[in-house]
Amino acid sequence: MAGKDIIAPGATIGMLGGGQLGRMTALAAANLGYKVHVLTPEQDSPASQVCAATTIADYTDRAALEAFAASIDVVTYEFENVPVEAAEFLMERVPVRPGPEALRVAQDRLREKEFAANLGIGTAPFRAVGAADELASAIAAIGTPSVLKTRRMGYDGKGQTKILPGTNPDDAWAAIGGQPAILEGFVSFHMEISVIVARGLDGQTLCYPPVENRHVNHILDTTIVPAPIPPALVAEAEEIARKMAEALDLVGLLAVEMFVTEDGRVLMNEIAPRPHNSGHWTMDACVTSQFEQMVRAVCGLPLGSVERYGDAEMKNLIGDEAHDWLEILRDPAAKLHLYGKAEARPGRKMGHVNRIVRK
Ligand code: AMP
Repeated sequence: MAGKDIIAPGATIGMLGGGQLGRMTALAAANLGYKVHVLTPEQDSPASQVCAATTIADYTDRAALEAFAASIDVVTYEFENVPVEAAEFLMERVPVRPGPEALRVAQDRLREKEFAANLGIGTAPFRAVGAADELASAIAAIGTPSVLKTRRMGYDGKGQTKILPGTNPDDAWAAIGGQPAILEGFVSFHMEISVIVARGLDGQTLCYPPVENRHVNHILDTTIVPAPIPPALVAEAEEIARKMAEALDLVGLLAVEMFVTEDGRVLMNEIAPRPHNSGHWTMDACVTSQFEQMVRAVCGLPLGSVERYGDAEMKNLIGDEAHDWLEILRDPAAKLHLYGKAEARPGRKMGHVNRIVRK
């Protein structure tokens, strides 16, 4: 029998955000018999094309949020820059999973690093930079090379600038738009990896294995599964993800991006309390995809197996790369996923291809 926190199949999941992550979650939810109602400011969003209902409204539109809450049984989100106030407003009406604390931490690069550091998790050395005149002393403390990043709203390398020995602090401050920032020591990393951990309503955690992420122009290009790292580092990376999910009391998914340094340390770089691009391989190479896992977690269902069918590779299709769909489909083993975006703008994530490379 279902407990009171369990959202049974047939119910409607509210999804804040209408991008491809929402789309793939809605498809997974439908397979388990749920409906998804998306709230997004965007017209014809990737998620709205496949979900049961869409509300087109701003996240700050209280009347729209009120009506949205009345039509759903639980709320989740597919991007972490949803205003915390919207999550709090909804929380008074329906369960919000993951809760607002995960949003609060994940939205802010400084809080994120402080949160990790308080748990004894290694990060790049960092300093808060609240104003232009704090930058020179932060550079003196952290050294060069270093990276100045806006605390909020940065993604795919946006809102950040590198600081080299001759860099003028005023120019660097102007380059990031003069916003509250964090200065990080530049990590000479051997590899970028990520771990996605799922945490159920009962506190059970399950990790997908660490994967290697290769970026081109600051955008994820390829994910290699599993990351070619020794077992001790696998255990360390999974422990970091688990620890952060538990400390956030998270229900849902937490993606944790990390650096493996040249001297073999694992440092946390950033977190996302939602499905993640580096987990798309799970759709075709795992017993339970990250999207199904998120639905299970936020609905209070038992988590599914994270066992994988083999080693795998995920290639993002960025911009014009999506025009190669016919060529890709000629490889019968390629699993193509397209997000239904009309315009292939440069840098835009249009789809991805999964391949099992070794069984
Ligand atoms: P982020 O937006 O923090 O994920 O940064 C985007 C990319 O910039 C990362 O995937 C890294 O390749 C690089 N990067 C970010 N922070 C650092 C750092 N402290 N040291 C070296 N590279 C970094």
